[in-house]
Amino acid sequence: MIKIEPDAWQVMVAHARSAFPNECCGAMLGSSDGDTKSVKVAVPLENAFEGSQAARYDIRPEDLLAADREARRQGLDLIGIFHSHPDCDAYFSETDLKNSCPWYSFVVLSIKKGEFDHAASFLPDFEQSAAAKEELVY
Ligand SMILES: [Zn+2]
Repeated sequence: MIKIEPDAWQVMVAHARSAFPNECCGAMLGSSDGDTKSVKVAVPLENAFEGSQAARYDIRPEDLLAADREARRQGLDLIGIFHSHPDCDAYFSETDLKNSCPWYSFVVLSIKKGEFDHAASFLPDFEQSAAAKEELVY
């Protein structure tokens, strides 16, 4: 289960709404206790995809490294990545799977007509062949 604390959730929704009609992306910092993860800080990152960003996002490796360093500075871990699906449901696409890594939770926010609609979290496997749905609380 992944639980997103209110302050972090507000940052994620605000970032997703402001990026609309493009996809947004960002890092989730927090802690894990067994199977329960808790997101305490959300860090908006720039969508670095060169091309139409309406259905794609890219995170620069150096931005992710900086988020990881920030997590450590705050005594937290980088536990996941979030991105938005403008005018599209919160599913895990083939592209999402291809760009995934198995040690992070991937939260997808569905933004419809500029407003938050729903969200889901996914846990990709090591082969990048499937992503199980993870219980998401926000
Ligand atoms: Zn996606």
